[in-house]
Amino acid sequence: MTDEPFGRYTPSDLSFDDRGLIPAIIQVASTGEVVMLGYMNEESLRRTLALGQAVFWSRSREELWHKGATSGDYLDVVEVLADCDQDTLVVKVELAGRGVCHTGARSDFLEADDATPRRVVACR
Ligand SMILES: [Zn+2]
Repeated sequence: MTDEPFGRYTPSDLSFDDRGLIPAIIQVASTGEVVMLGYMNEESLRRTLALGQAVFWSRSREELWHKGATSGDYLDVVEVLADCDQDTLVVKVELAGRGVCHTGARSDFLEADDATPRRVVACR
């Protein structure tokens, strides 16, 4: 299989951590929003590239996780970028459904109404 048009690295070129994982920052291609951080192993990355939809490794369930398979909220992959030391991915996607969060929100990263640089806002 060819990895075109997904960039110059094949999954086996990448640097996975000692659990076999690589962090994948999920960014909406059309808006630039960072909506999620997931983890991929080599198998999930290969499936992502083959499907054109994001497939993660679920660290809590310890299984492949095709995002949207149960909710319909698939992430359609536009391109996959590796950083300069090949240990982090930016996966540019378009949202096929509502978003990425289990709350139904578009993003896992909630924006506060009163943003301040010394406060953390979370999606619970
Ligand atoms: Zn969330």
